[in-house]
Amino acid sequence: MDPTQATREVFWNIQYTWLVYVLMVPTLAVLAWGFWLKIRRWRAGQPAVRFDRLGERFQLFLRNAVGQGRTIKSRYAGLFHSLVYTGFIVLFLATTVVAIHHDTPLHIMKGHFYLIFQSLIVDIFGLFVLVGVALAAVRRWVAKPAKLVYTDEASWILVSIFVMALTGFIVEGWRIAVTDDVWAAWSPVGNLFARASDPLMSDAAMQTGHIVIWWFHLLVAFGFIAWVPFSKMSHVFTAPLNIFTANLDGYGGSLKAIDFETAERFGINHLGDFTWKDLLDFDACTECGRCTDVCPANTVGKSLSPRDIILDLQALMHERGDSVLANGNGSGNGDAALLPIIDQKTAVSPEALFSCTTCAACMEACPVHIEQMPKIVDARRYLVMEEAEFPEGMMDMMNSLESRQHPFAGTQFSRVDWTEGLDIDVMADMDDPAEAEVLMWVGCGGALVERNRNTVRATAKLLKKAGVKFAILGREESCSGDPARRVGNEFLFEMLAKGNVETLDRYGVRKVVTSCPHCFNSFRNEYPQFGGSYEVYHHTQFLDQLVGSGKLPANGPGAQAGNGETITFHDPCYLGRHNGEYDAPRNLLAKVGGARQVEMQRSRNTSFCCGGGGGMAFVDEPPDQRVNQERAQEAVDTGADVVAVGCPFCATMLDDGVNARRGDRDVKVKDVAELLWDAVGETEESGEAAT
Ligand code: SF4
Ligand code: SF4
Repeated sequence: MDPTQATREVFWNIQYTWLVYVLMVPTLAVLAWGFWLKIRRWRAGQPAVRFDRLGERFQLFLRNAVGQGRTIKSRYAGLFHSLVYTGFIVLFLATTVVAIHHDTPLHIMKGHFYLIFQSLIVDIFGLFVLVGVALAAVRRWVAKPAKLVYTDEASWILVSIFVMALTGFIVEGWRIAVTDDVWAAWSPVGNLFARASDPLMSDAAMQTGHIVIWWFHLLVAFGFIAWVPFSKMSHVFTAPLNIFTANLDGYGGSLKAIDFETAERFGINHLGDFTWKDLLDFDACTECGRCTDVCPANTVGKSLSPRDIILDLQALMHERGDSVLANGNGSGNGDAALLPIIDQKTAVSPEALFSCTTCAACMEACPVHIEQMPKIVDARRYLVMEEAEFPEGMMDMMNSLESRQHPFAGTQFSRVDWTEGLDIDVMADMDDPAEAEVLMWVGCGGALVERNRNTVRATAKLLKKAGVKFAILGREESCSGDPARRVGNEFLFEMLAKGNVETLDRYGVRKVVTSCPHCFNSFRNEYPQFGGSYEVYHHTQFLDQLVGSGKLPANGPGAQAGNGETITFHDPCYLGRHNGEYDAPRNLLAKVGGARQVEMQRSRNTSFCCGGGGGMAFVDEPPDQRVNQERAQEAVDTGADVVAVGCPFCATMLDDGVNARRGDRDVKVKDVAELLWDAVGETEESGEAAT
């Protein structure tokens, strides 16, 4: 046996092979037509720039489409998906090799390549497909997790793939058995079928069976290929495309400004107002349910399900989309153009839309980079600005923003009360505001909520101790506009943002430090939309730099301030997921000597929202559906003595939650700056003396 001569006959035992090519034509035609229908629908959407920055896009594509980076984060689903995915790729390559060998002068299917790739590797990866489908079937039909969508289509997809892989092995096994293939050992799975069939079937029976199963295999495979664009299997094409065209600006920059001069409608309530990328999003959904599984609102029993929002919009697009999209892009007429997407009877109900905390957990979890949260905010914009419809607490908050430029209607504090005794420069009172190298942006939650005033005091004292020349705006500071934008009142947000940009530009501000991640996000990612570009730091980032450069020694008399305590850090969504900062607060907590850090089960990019984002801090939630209590329970369960936070909204929400869930334990909620100031270990007076 000379391995260099190893090969096999293509189309062994098969006649009328020309039929394969005849059947292939309608199969590929239906496949192409199906995808053309999709592309045509997407093209009817509004414009979006998603083919820029090609280098970054290719990297993302390699990581999360080719490399399945996000898919494999879920261990079980990642395992079976990887088995089927890699199996499919290898089987596709093997079929291509057969076609090249048979239909071109390049007879490549021979020798060691035939034995190692076309026989051994292909057999192993074919087995991967069988095992992968079996694992998926166990999950779908036995374990039945709530996050999945249980449709006949999904079951038929599993059955079809299993049948294709199994019949492939059967025809291989019977060929091996009937021809006494001398290279059989190189095809271990096919050989197993051959050895199992040998004692049970005659050669003639296997030969006849081979013909029948071979054609059956081909028909199932061709039927499956033609079905792909009309089923959720279309994700094999739409998902990689969706990943390639993903938002590269981070979740914090995913809300776009409205051009109020030209917009015919504000917000979105019609398919035709979505961009082509939004429409592609609907078609890219794999129904994996990961987004809903991590959604804090859904977790506590609210009706919000980001998966169902995407799937309901997908269904609407498929059922009515052609007529809607044909008319819906601003020139629409009649009912079709104005078919509403917000509907009390679907997942896109006002109640669900107004439960979103804009935490972006759904977007982070989605293996194919679907952007759920901006669509929710777009729909909120429609409800708020076109219909004046929103929950009562949000209405009070917006009224206060309009009349007082802050959202806390009942506060008894002014913007500068917290500075008492600290001798802090206010820009308007300075002879030369340019002497302030840094603007300390205090934020409404820091200045006007009693429990957070310690945080901003600690931050200011730490800046002073490090010798930073900073000032505040004092009474000239107004809300960054974040709550207005998240709720959907883009008009109010734009007004506040433009006002702030004008104030900052008047003082020539270049560097901003803030202890509020929501303000931080607005300044960093959203103010550039209104001409405001600054060097922006969250206070933990800035303090971390000061400690790192030795300007802020955290080894003062209070170096052992941790005193044997355990600290767990709660990642604020707008610092972590929205802006990718996870380390700075943890670095600072490591300086709190004598303390030990523990992580909650959901931390860093999988952190669970405190429940206060998206304007939800101003809504009175039902007692049994409180996101803050769910998160507080997780923090309490770590056994920590201190829950460290880096956001005034998180502080308030978790304070309430911890008080409800701590039982008789003494668990404190403290900002990282407060803990660091304790570690620096000086009295309030010495903080003042440091100025
Ligand atoms: S942003 Fe957060 S709250 Fe909103 S749908 Fe996504 S996971 Fe749910
Ligand atoms: S939107 Fe993304 S995470 Fe949610 S079900 Fe679809 S593919 Fe899965």
